[in-house]
Amino acid sequence: MTPLWTSDEAAAATGGRATRAFAATGVSIDTRSLRPGDLFVALADQRDGHDFVAEALARGAAAALVSRLPEGLPEGAPLLLVPDVLEGLRALGRAARARTRARVVGVTGSVGKTSTKEMLRATLGGQGTVHAAEASYNNHWGVPLTLARMPADVDFAVVEIGMNHPGEIAPLARLARPHLAVITTVAAAHLEAFDSLSAIAEEKAAILEGLEPGGRAILPAGLDVSPVLLARAAALGVPAVSFGPTAAADWRLTDIQITPEATIARASHAGGSFLFKVLTPGRHFASNALATLAAAEALGLDLTIAACDLGLWTPPSGRGTRERIALDPVDEAGFDLIDDAFNANPASMAASLELLAAMAPTDGVGRIAAGRRIAILGDMLELGPTEAQLHRAVADHPAMAGIALVHCVGPRMRALHEALPRRQRGEWVETAAELVPRARLLVDAGDIVLVKGSKGIKVSLVVDALRKL
Ligand code: ATP
Repeated sequence: MTPLWTSDEAAAATGGRATRAFAATGVSIDTRSLRPGDLFVALADQRDGHDFVAEALARGAAAALVSRLPEGLPEGAPLLLVPDVLEGLRALGRAARARTRARVVGVTGSVGKTSTKEMLRATLGGQGTVHAAEASYNNHWGVPLTLARMPADVDFAVVEIGMNHPGEIAPLARLARPHLAVITTVAAAHLEAFDSLSAIAEEKAAILEGLEPGGRAILPAGLDVSPVLLARAAALGVPAVSFGPTAAADWRLTDIQITPEATIARASHAGGSFLFKVLTPGRHFASNALATLAAAEALGLDLTIAACDLGLWTPPSGRGTRERIALDPVDEAGFDLIDDAFNANPASMAASLELLAAMAPTDGVGRIAAGRRIAILGDMLELGPTEAQLHRAVADHPAMAGIALVHCVGPRMRALHEALPRRQRGEWVETAAELVPRARLLVDAGDIVLVKGSKGIKVSLVVDALRKL
């Protein structure tokens, strides 16, 4: 296997000192997923990575990137000593970016980053080799880690860039130096740290500051804050292509049809138009797909092949995946579960409710069943002072008309529970764990059940319990 980092290269990149020569074939920050040959980066996150260096080496790490000598190491253990481990990881990322021939796509947005990153992986992958992180590595260590893992000879790299606070995006974008920046959408998320949607849009637009000279942008059209994004691109002299449902968009989305298995929509661009299909229902996925097609075009790819390869995409787990859960193996009785428990904010909540409303309960062999549409909804976190209002407003979403029963999880969801009409009001519980022992009581054969909530509220526990029924 060609080494990703030799000790000489890693030492030159970081200015560190290698205790002996090594050749690493990967980079890891976690001994649980470490592969033999990885360079183990002893980051201090929830725990200090230095405490795991001995274990990493025992599991076959080629070396460890450290800022001090960990205790209990064998004589002559392969180490790369740097003053600061996170800075060392950033330096590896910077060097990997400098040596690659890949065209780099940076993806940011309030929702849809990971879904779009995965759509880009599928779409660009049909016309070249692609490097992208296997998970949502979009923060201060995730972006440098993604870059440090990038082989020099890939054709494309897709780097997800996220933020919780003002000022986080620009430095990450400057590290990734994308040729193309994609902003999926701007919505009320992390409102706690921002005064307004415009302020969030300004922060997302900071990705443009990291663009390579001559870099371009793909921006959402039709949002109240679209002008903020376009103005920032114009001020920086970045050519921008817009996508969305509005007539003025460069890439226009129309004729969206949602079936239980897929979303079909029309993309109109430069006087022509074509239909595309993604194999998952959801209006929001059509929007991410349109951004992906616009990106493929900006990279000079064949659009017919790109649209076909888009069909290979399936949503990352916990982002709207639908599965059949059997309740009785003999007579095929069961229910459909939509696992959207990875995260939530008002925009993705609305998208998921629309998805549930568009889906029909089935009997497991494709026939429409007489079951109910049920939503189990957890708190949306980090929404700041208007959180009660934003939770209550879920009751007024038009898609709620098609939902029979709504169970609410978490202190903030109490506002929704109280705003629901009595016939639709299910249980309210403070924590997801309380629903786990009662999971069987929540569903009947033929139902279709959506589980959605912010990561911190752990409605994934309810998903796990429903899966085990
Ligand atoms: P995070 O920042 O939490 O990692 P993300 O920006 O990477 O999120 P995804 O993981 O792709 O976003 O999706 C998160 C949730 O938002 C899922 O429920 C998904 O179905 C929904 N979603 C994805 N794209 C959009 C979109 N364009 N508009 C609204 N909701 C979306």
